[in-house]
Amino acid sequence: MPEAQVFDVVVVGSGGGAMTAAHLAQKRGLRTVVVEKTDKLGGTSAYSGGACWLPGSDVQQRAGIADSTESARTYLGAILDHPDRDKIEAFLLQAPRVVAALEEDPALVFEWLPFPEYFDAPGRVSWGRSIQPTNVRRDELPAEVAGLVRPPVERDRAGEGGRNTLSGGQALIARLLWAFVRDGGTVLTSHCVDGLLREGERVVGVRARTGDGVVEVHALRGVVIAAGGFERNQAWRSEHGVPGDAAWSMAPAGTNAGEPIAAAVEAGAATDLLDQGWFCPGLEQPDGGGSFTLGFRSGVMVDHEGRRYANECLPYDRFGRAMAAAPGRIPSWFVFDSREGGRLPAIAMPEGDPAEHLAAGTWVRGDSLQELADRLDLPALPETVERFNGFAEKGLDEDFGRGSDEYDTFFAGGDGPDKALVPVDQPPFYAARFVLSDLGTKGGLVTDAHARVLRSDGSAIPGLYATGNSSASVVGAVYPGPGVPLGTAMVFASLAAEDLAG
Ligand code: FAD
Repeated sequence: MPEAQVFDVVVVGSGGGAMTAAHLAQKRGLRTVVVEKTDKLGGTSAYSGGACWLPGSDVQQRAGIADSTESARTYLGAILDHPDRDKIEAFLLQAPRVVAALEEDPALVFEWLPFPEYFDAPGRVSWGRSIQPTNVRRDELPAEVAGLVRPPVERDRAGEGGRNTLSGGQALIARLLWAFVRDGGTVLTSHCVDGLLREGERVVGVRARTGDGVVEVHALRGVVIAAGGFERNQAWRSEHGVPGDAAWSMAPAGTNAGEPIAAAVEAGAATDLLDQGWFCPGLEQPDGGGSFTLGFRSGVMVDHEGRRYANECLPYDRFGRAMAAAPGRIPSWFVFDSREGGRLPAIAMPEGDPAEHLAAGTWVRGDSLQELADRLDLPALPETVERFNGFAEKGLDEDFGRGSDEYDTFFAGGDGPDKALVPVDQPPFYAARFVLSDLGTKGGLVTDAHARVLRSDGSAIPGLYATGNSSASVVGAVYPGPGVPLGTAMVFASLAAEDLAG
């Protein structure tokens, strides 16, 4: 017989949604366990910037931001396709409440994060309405908490430990974990959940593979699946038509392959949006991995002929969708000049070492644009750059409108008539190979306004909840602004915790 452990609530996964559900359930007196596949907590959430799109909270009020639930409702109403009105309303009403509930705990403190939203639409707040957890020093944290949090992406991929100051997603996971273990919560690492325990219709626990065999973890109240998407499962990606590749995804290696989603489907759950992800251009790494890249300050992105096809300063999900929209764009080449000393004029997480890129051929250097065009077989490149440089001189991108939105100019630093339009004219020139990366898939289990997992007939499976990228996103195929993956995950996590507490 497998070893069995009994709790009130089993939370599968340990990202922002999982840890919010776990903390709030434990705080309400429910004995809660976090069951995590790897030996580190936090998943992709720990790699993240920790931005949380949670409109209308006290944090924005404190910062004097012109944000409100009403303006967020207007914004979502203007940009979403086919929204589920009940779930959107539940999200909007719960967002300020979850922030208030979290900030009741001294371990959890948030602040406003200036970062523009991704659409110029009614209800948008200038410079954004996202919030983030404040930084926390490693020596402020209990040792068992500090040691468990997954390091930032560049250090994790290099096999290094975390920094002395935890910021962004690391701070979010550390702060939630701190409160959870202080309140008596239990953490099981290196447990891969691949089955659900059922009694009749009801889900009563999980089955997990461990280094010591299979274990059962029983849940008297319910199970919350918050185990990411299936971005690291290439077979599923191909089956459901998710653009990109498992190897280019930003989820930590060995994490999100969708076993808990499959287990829920086995228990009768419906799924939706299975071809969707949170996309981004990915700087290809010498080892073939991808790297989340945003905030281009100069340079142009070209297709297999050397032609531009979109505004390079678009919000990253929108640029990623442009990459996937036509053949010949994956890979693309990002062509830049030497004005930043041969470094990529953008934020890439991780960037990698330029010398290693050049040695691996993921970057190519040329003394002239013609040389790059010849070496990479990009015949239109010289003409493309000449045309773009003309736009930079005029301050107007006549082809793709780069520089026309506040998001475009947020990261840009040019000193011409439009600071997002910087000429590519300082040799030597570089071309960096880009693939389509993602911050996770966002199709999965269909849930209701209480985060209960639904069957295809709309009935709830008793005892089963889902949030984050394990669930079909409430925002559908749209990425409204910074912090939406985490913010929506945290809201539905808190609704699950409330429902579980009855
Ligand atoms: P994850 O955070 O990936 O957590 C899933 C966890 O479940 C993992 O630890 C995994 O090991 C575990 N798991 C998987 N399968 C199993 C199993 N079978 N059994 C047990 N455990 C399992 N989003 C924002 O909202 N704001 C940002 O600022 C932001 N910045 C980002 C910056 C970077 C560099 C990256 C890469 C992403 C960023 N994102 C951001 C996106 C965001 O981090 C993710 O989309 C989101 O965190 C996913 O949350 P999740 O809980 O669904 O999955």
